[in-house]
Amino acid sequence: MTSHVIPSYLSGDALGPWGVFLQQIDRVTPYLGELAFWIESLKRPKRILIVDVPIKMDDGSVAHFEGYRVQHNTSRGPGKGGVRFHQGVTLSEVMALAGWMTIKNAAIGVPFGGAKGGVRVDTRGLSLAELERVTRRYTSEIGFLIGPDKDIPAPDVNTNERVMAWMMDTYSVNQGRTSTGVVTGKPISLGGSLGRHDATGRGVFVVGQAAALKQGVSIPGARVCVQGFGNVGAIAARCFADAGAKVTTVQDVSGTIHNPRGLDVRKLIEMQLAGQHIVEYRDADRITDDEFWSVESEFLVPAALEQQITAANAGRIRTRILLEGANGPTTPEADDILNANGVLVVPDVLANAGGVTVSYFEWVQDFSSYFWSEEEINKRLDRIMGDAFAAISETAEREKVTLRTATYIVACKRVLAARQLRGLYP
Ligand code: NAD
Repeated sequence: MTSHVIPSYLSGDALGPWGVFLQQIDRVTPYLGELAFWIESLKRPKRILIVDVPIKMDDGSVAHFEGYRVQHNTSRGPGKGGVRFHQGVTLSEVMALAGWMTIKNAAIGVPFGGAKGGVRVDTRGLSLAELERVTRRYTSEIGFLIGPDKDIPAPDVNTNERVMAWMMDTYSVNQGRTSTGVVTGKPISLGGSLGRHDATGRGVFVVGQAAALKQGVSIPGARVCVQGFGNVGAIAARCFADAGAKVTTVQDVSGTIHNPRGLDVRKLIEMQLAGQHIVEYRDADRITDDEFWSVESEFLVPAALEQQITAANAGRIRTRILLEGANGPTTPEADDILNANGVLVVPDVLANAGGVTVSYFEWVQDFSSYFWSEEEINKRLDRIMGDAFAAISETAEREKVTLRTATYIVACKRVLAARQLRGLYP
């Protein structure tokens, strides 16, 4: 394995998720021909901004949170990527997430570079007013770096439509004009797109269908396990259940529930909307979070956080198709184990690209102030995801590589060809 220089701004010797991204780039390099000349440009982010986010708490005290915005690469277009609020956010994580956005946007063919943002904050400890103040101060601090033709944030873990509305408003107030196109994933009434809320989960299901065809797996009756029951996991689970699959096991921060006869996914979503935890669902057994990985299934959908599937649990996984709803859920060592065990891994940069695809539709609609029907959006989304899966599958077969490496081949060639054409300035 190539050894990497640790950037001075990453402390200690642990590269964390960024190290995983670097390993993935190393794996694709031999397949890039003369474009490999430019590969170093993917191994360092273009821009990193670290900001202090001070806010007044409801009790009158002042709290400080660390915020980040990383633009990994803008060779093919403005930066694009979500904003995460989580107590575990680190610079290494945001760098990796930004890098994965570069790959994803190129793989799916939307005209964006890769970016990502985050604030290290435990949102469970914040009131709604405090959450709003964190969002607005963070947006102001990164305001000079973002913009509809510069870098366009979107929702990620613990951020949603309401947070996007605050971001759009803060940016607009500071600019002195309403700028709907600065973020995507907004409420419909503020220039959001129909279909955006469900897009990532729906896209996971669409590539799941294509993968099932490839593996000879029938969706009706297929057993599905889902880790993370948020925007991505819950919608993917609902799509599978609607198509006749049995969602047998669901895990979120509150715990893991299992019923071999299948869980009522719509009921679980209703419970969540009513403020209940999934572990309060009656018609299921509680199993430990670790047992989740040994449950037999046709589809396993990690849709929570990165580095969940490692060398420690990959060998126990008994599934046919691993659909990566989350970003970076599988380490390279785990990837090797899963491939050796015959599990088809559909990588994050392909499987969860539905969100950014409809974000792209939202951005286009905001520019033209002309909005499409949900039917039109879903039709275009299904076609783009289906075509991307087919092209990447074909590359995987031709080059005799995994779907992950094939996705990186397609994406890196596009990014590096753009880099080469633009040349270096001066
Ligand atoms: P979310 O905040 O809506 O949901 C996250 C879910 O993960 C919650 O159910 C939470 O309980 C669960 N979770 C958190 N920590 C966990 C843990 N340690 N163990 C088990 N469950 C845990 O977030 P989301 O938007 O659904 O994002 C989930 C993943 O999908 C992230 O990796 C994100 O980067 C990725 N993703 C999201 C989008 C999007 O459009 N929202 C697009 C592409 C990729």
